[in-house]
Amino acid sequence: MNADLHCHSTVSDGQLAPAAVARLAKAGGVTLWALTDHDVLGGQREARETAEALGMRYLNGVEISVTWASRTVHIVGLHVDPECTALVEGLARTRDGRAARAEAMGERLAELGIQGAYPGALRYVSNPDLISRTHFARFLVESGRAQNTQDAFSRWLGDGKPGYIAHRWAKLADAVSWIKAAGGEAIIAHPGRYAYTQLEFDTLFGEFIDLGGKAIEVVTGSHTPDQYAEYAAVARRFGFEASRGSDFHAPGDDSIAPGMLPPLPSDLKPVWERWL
Ligand code: AMP
Ligand code: MN
Ligand code: MN
Ligand code: MN
Repeated sequence: MNADLHCHSTVSDGQLAPAAVARLAKAGGVTLWALTDHDVLGGQREARETAEALGMRYLNGVEISVTWASRTVHIVGLHVDPECTALVEGLARTRDGRAARAEAMGERLAELGIQGAYPGALRYVSNPDLISRTHFARFLVESGRAQNTQDAFSRWLGDGKPGYIAHRWAKLADAVSWIKAAGGEAIIAHPGRYAYTQLEFDTLFGEFIDLGGKAIEVVTGSHTPDQYAEYAAVARRFGFEASRGSDFHAPGDDSIAPGMLPPLPSDLKPVWERWL
């Protein structure tokens, strides 16, 4: 089983349409796939139809933006019913603040001497409901303010950097409850990306379990190989099931192509087994 359960399309901040990501997943040898756009389910039908036509199994997916202890955490929901009202309405509320935040980011970047960032970012946006920092990063690269997307985050857009505008996303309890209401399972995405202390991490994992969270991503394009081992150990310690996903956004940026990650450590229980 080559499972890739974390990918993005033009429905959020990826650069390929859902069907094109599906074809890339197929080419990468993926046999079980999920498209997990940020805070939006609009790509699910196209993703599923293309995946199934190509002979892959498909799980409906989403990646929900959450604020926990003043920082952003991403919660992936898999096997969710895209018609579930609690989920659909919760995601709509989560997306709500993005436009105003993006305008504020444009103003902040202008104060820093970078003009035209908001309209510049908008040119990369396919879904007007879903403008993200990634779109600003592409503008900053295009206008020579950063060498690549990663550099745009390191210099300008990353948490606490000069162009960063904080935002209040969904609550952890709400995100998990919407996913459960929609018949899915909640998974902490790329835990290695969060700048929490050990105590905060332990509290986050404990709270997540108390809310009914089952799994964490262990092997992800957003982890280094050292972090695969580190979060495999966390999964063992907390009894989490494990997930695997490239976090693919665009060909040619530094994201790994769908299906190309190493397998999960063999002693971990894959979160997807329950659905096979
Ligand atoms: P937003 O939801 O607008 O805050 O943007 C978050 C998105 O920015 C993530 O989903 C990633 O695609 C991207 N991102 C965040 N941090 C980084 C980083 N350090 N390097 C590259 N992309 C990042
Ligand atoms: Mn993204
Ligand atoms: Mn993420
Ligand atoms: Mn992602």
